[in-house]
Amino acid sequence: MNKSELLYQKASHIMPGGVNSPVRAFNGVGGTPIFIQKADGAYIYDVDGKAYIDYVGSWGPMILGHNHPEIASAVTKAIQQGLSYGAPTEIEVKLANLVSSIIPSIEMIRMVNSGTEATMSAIRLARGFTKRDKIIKFEGCYHGHADYLLVNAGSGALTFGHPTSPGVPQDFVKHTLVCNYNDLNSVKQRFEQYPEEIAAIIVEPVAGNMNCVPAKSEFISGLRQLCDEYGALLIIDEVMTGFRVALGGAQEYYDVIPDLTCLGKIIGGGMPVGAFGGRAEIMQQLAPTGPIYQAGTLSGNPIAMTAGFTALNRLNDVGIYQQLADSTAQLCEGLSYAAKRHNVPFVTNYVGAMFGLFFTDVEEVTSYSDVMKSNIELFKKFYHHMLLEGVYFAPSAFEAGFMSLAHSDREINHTIDSANRFFKTL
Ligand code: PMP
Repeated sequence: MNKSELLYQKASHIMPGGVNSPVRAFNGVGGTPIFIQKADGAYIYDVDGKAYIDYVGSWGPMILGHNHPEIASAVTKAIQQGLSYGAPTEIEVKLANLVSSIIPSIEMIRMVNSGTEATMSAIRLARGFTKRDKIIKFEGCYHGHADYLLVNAGSGALTFGHPTSPGVPQDFVKHTLVCNYNDLNSVKQRFEQYPEEIAAIIVEPVAGNMNCVPAKSEFISGLRQLCDEYGALLIIDEVMTGFRVALGGAQEYYDVIPDLTCLGKIIGGGMPVGAFGGRAEIMQQLAPTGPIYQAGTLSGNPIAMTAGFTALNRLNDVGIYQQLADSTAQLCEGLSYAAKRHNVPFVTNYVGAMFGLFFTDVEEVTSYSDVMKSNIELFKKFYHHMLLEGVYFAPSAFEAGFMSLAHSDREINHTIDSANRFFKTL
């Protein structure tokens, strides 16, 4: 038994599934998880000393690569001033202004500690602002684990085959309407059914929790139009796509202006940060300026703000997003070419620094039902082959992959060569 297996055994006695977040347990691919010792650049290292090229990047935040020297040094300096005060600091104002300058639809912002908190709070705000109760979400989209959002959700909820979770009262989800991703008609019908009851649409603009499924441009612009027509708010959940598919997120990529945006992952530079923001008129309705309550003991934590500010400052550099997009295209096109050479049915989706791999006959994967047609058993075999060859993808066929600035030709070529050896065996 190696160290990871030993640790997993110990962990399973004290933590459900041996983990603090379900997909990490490898249930989606079989086998047992590798335990990580450290990470640097494009690599993570397990407790047995093996290195892996990492396409998980802590599920998105590590877009600059692991252990980035500037972030490490800024955080080290910040730590020496105390860890938390629960009182306002200058670094919160600096990060807030930086985010607003990168994503202009965010006129005002509030920091929280996770993506889940960001979406929960944005929805409360939307409901309070519009004085309406219903919300629309899409099948296969995941917005964190709030009760009323765990309805036909993606990510771990898909991996584990429980789109809705026990423990969520039916009463709590009765205001959640579920529509089909990339299917504007399904949304229109709901608005026609409840013209004055829908507070908001919440959408992943590039769905990254049912593998990777980009929205069609006309779908996103259609959502904007329907919201305007019926007086509902458009909430774009950019927890994953923010600062990833473009510096200004998917709203820049699709050229759409939401009422509210949810952020997470990259905004914390690897520390636990989430945020939601948008039109000032709406944001002013939050306590203490308005009546809609939202709060957090550690919100705006100075160490987390420092990490986030340093990361976003670096991402502001010219050329970074072109490099990220080029690397992602190089990887996906390389994998597709290798699969084709060996007649393996295989499709890739990618936008900016985010990608998805599907073993499927479907020509184009644009919906939840397309995703469900992919060959999960083959993905599992692929997964373990890649792991043996030192390549770490997300351990589930329903998660997106993430490119970082630290991934160079060397890592990308190794990944393609490894996959090629797998395709050859089929
Ligand atoms: N929204 C989206 C689009 C996400 O991808 C996630 C997490 N992967 C969340 C919300 C929830 O974020 P967190 O895990 O930080 O609570």
